[in-house]
Amino acid sequence: MVSATDRLEEIKADIRNAETACGRGEGAVTLIAVSKTFDAEAILPVLEAGQRVFGENRVQEAMGKWPGLRAEYDGVELHLIGPLQSNKAKEAVATFDVIHTIDRPKIARALKAEMDRQGRQLPCFIQVNTGEEPQKAGIAPKEVDAFVKDCRDEIGLDIVGLMCIPPVDEAPGEHFALLEKIAGRNGLSQLSMGMSSDYRVAIGFGATCVRVGSAIFGSR
Ligand SMILES: *Cc1c(COP(=O)(O)O)cnc(C)c1O
Repeated sequence: MVSATDRLEEIKADIRNAETACGRGEGAVTLIAVSKTFDAEAILPVLEAGQRVFGENRVQEAMGKWPGLRAEYDGVELHLIGPLQSNKAKEAVATFDVIHTIDRPKIARALKAEMDRQGRQLPCFIQVNTGEEPQKAGIAPKEVDAFVKDCRDEIGLDIVGLMCIPPVDEAPGEHFALLEKIAGRNGLSQLSMGMSSDYRVAIGFGATCVRVGSAIFGSR
């Protein structure tokens, strides 16, 4: 039987190959292991194998699993990759190290207020709704420039990059290309894009972090 640690090693090798294939340096891409819905017991072997960067999409779930795991393993970096409500800002800032899903001024302000209160300025990504899907979170592409400026200059967040989740029924490449273009013109160096099914494609378009869940932990 293939274990999560076998799959982790395969994906790491695959990422290195993709980096080289598109002329990017080794280590240019950070693997975020998305452990949502998996319990501490399932995560342990992956920590034991040396993985330290993880993604969760619910604040409450992460609060239940990660304090205990952090107590046992040094150097864990936890990324919030799911939608955030402003009434969870306090817990989010206390639990996570990086936020990928800033998608409206209200959440940006609530997070900044909490970061000031807790003395923890977390790196943040702005989520972009590249496919302009009504049911999906994220800032519309044409509104990103103004929102980035607002988050940086008015609100004072540390915006490091952009994040997207392409529409399921479309080729992801054009969405990744669009995200890269918007990031470039805003002077943002990080791109959070690519999941289990398309992380290789995303690396070709300049992803600096890929968020891979089921290809490591199995289907949810
Ligand atoms: C669940 C999730 C992932 C990982 O998805 P897989 O297809 O399991 O790799 C990546 N990004 C976000 C925002 C997610 O919610």
